[in-house]
Amino acid sequence: MLSKTIKSTAKFFANLMSNIFAVVLVGIVGVSTLIAWATGTIDFLLQSITIPTPLWATIVVVLLCCLYTYLKVRQFRTTQKSPNVQEELYEAFGVYWNNQYKLRCLKCKWPLKCASKGQDPSLFWCSNCNTKFALRDPNGNPLTEANAIERLKEVLIG
Ligand SMILES: [Zn+2]
Repeated sequence: MLSKTIKSTAKFFANLMSNIFAVVLVGIVGVSTLIAWATGTIDFLLQSITIPTPLWATIVVVLLCCLYTYLKVRQFRTTQKSPNVQEELYEAFGVYWNNQYKLRCLKCKWPLKCASKGQDPSLFWCSNCNTKFALRDPNGNPLTEANAIERLKEVLIG
């Protein structure tokens, strides 16, 4: 009877001990896994912060270059749009004139350029719509830009 009690007690303690051992083992494995995972994560974070610095720098530089190009292209497009179509224009001698006596295209109001430098100073052309214009007085005689401005001032003032 006594030996049976001792046996069952010993069995109980043995079970208890193995249970505790199992719990402790699971705990150690679990904690060490957790620590390993945590340190692994920290290592990974440290690596992604420290090692690929040139990579981050490259990405930032490329993004800045893209932004710069985008802004430049946008600026170029806005400057290529019809310049100041809101300005007041006066039609005379076959072209438009603004209040600074600059020549403007009759079709698109773009600034006119001298068509053939040194040859015919009465010919002008629009680089926007590729139209040629000739400065002519009301009688059909060719006018240079300076002559036309002189006549225009006479007309506007007198
Ligand atoms: Zn034009």
